[in-house]
Amino acid sequence: MDELVPLNAPRAHPAPHLDLLGLLPPELEALVAVMGEAPYRARQLQSWLYARAARDIGSMTDLSNSFRRELAGRACIGRPALEACREDQGGEAAKFLFRLPDGERVESVLIYDGARRTACLSSQVGCGLGCTFCATARMGFRRQLTAGEIIGQLLEIGVVLRQRRERVTNVVLMGMGEPLLNLEAVLRSIQVMRLVPGPGIGGRRITVSTAGHVPGIHHLARARLNVGLAISLNATTDELRRQLMPIAHQYSIADLLGAAQDYFDVVGRRVTFEYVLMAGVNDSLEDAGRLGTLSRRVPCKLNLIPYNESGYDTPYRRPAAHWIQRFRAAVAAVSPVQTTVRDSHGRGIAAACGQLYQQHRSPRR
Ligand code: SAH
Repeated sequence: MDELVPLNAPRAHPAPHLDLLGLLPPELEALVAVMGEAPYRARQLQSWLYARAARDIGSMTDLSNSFRRELAGRACIGRPALEACREDQGGEAAKFLFRLPDGERVESVLIYDGARRTACLSSQVGCGLGCTFCATARMGFRRQLTAGEIIGQLLEIGVVLRQRRERVTNVVLMGMGEPLLNLEAVLRSIQVMRLVPGPGIGGRRITVSTAGHVPGIHHLARARLNVGLAISLNATTDELRRQLMPIAHQYSIADLLGAAQDYFDVVGRRVTFEYVLMAGVNDSLEDAGRLGTLSRRVPCKLNLIPYNESGYDTPYRRPAAHWIQRFRAAVAAVSPVQTTVRDSHGRGIAAACGQLYQQHRSPRR
């Protein structure tokens, strides 16, 4: 149970606005104990928070009035408010824009893929990594999301799906922000997703996507959460990678391959290298050959993501469909590694979180 011990466990005198969302079962138990209530109250609370997705303490009708009143004096449910929800034209995805209690905004995407319902969640407001092709980078880093705000996105998507008698089956932390630079909240939110019956999503169906923060990869591997890892490679030479992704000044491609091997050794799961295809930038047949060669050096899979241009002003372009297939074939010619192309429009937007936010803010400029 060691890894569940919280850093901000409720103390005898908790802060008045402790967020109940994101608290792990032992923490809820500690909270109700401090209030002199029986342990089963913690399970009731958990069910209200996660299975029934309650938005306020007052609505928890099977708890006594006095308990609810006292609880409301100590804690809140910091659910982000859903401000906009838009279905993608093809019906393959829906985008959600949330407003946080301090007025900041983040977005999530729900992707429909066969029977799969994948929620693509944000981990930070904005992002400080400055990748030149990314819409979120334009916001700069604004703040970390709390575990409750990460879980809150998932709960809100769950509410929309429940109206259609469906549920979220998979989670990717691939929205706004760099999850491995908000590790504490990200690990906590994953623990909640895995442990609590409401979201109830196993580690195998959760994937964390990183721009390549090597110490964070080692840390995630050792958190024993069994989640999938995706690393945004996006270039096959360190020189080009440094131009596209400033984090490449800190960690080389060789460092990333080392981290991918370590992840496999510790967790037993192959990492996925994501490669956003940008015409004339990183899509030459030489790039394809180098990508194939790189992929043979560690246990991995490849995911080619055609660049998504929609929604904001960008100099980068998506390669033509026939060229994407040619690139893929050139990779396959040197590598047996499983290579998928995320080619539909709906799935494209998932890889381009930050774009709904850009659209929302532009009218006010
Ligand atoms: N910071 C993390 C997660 C957020 S970005 C990371 O870098 O992995 C999620 C993925 O979207 C990354 O692979 C990134 O390279 C990709 N991406 C960003 N902007 C994109 C765009 N306009 N089109 C396609 N993919 C994009």
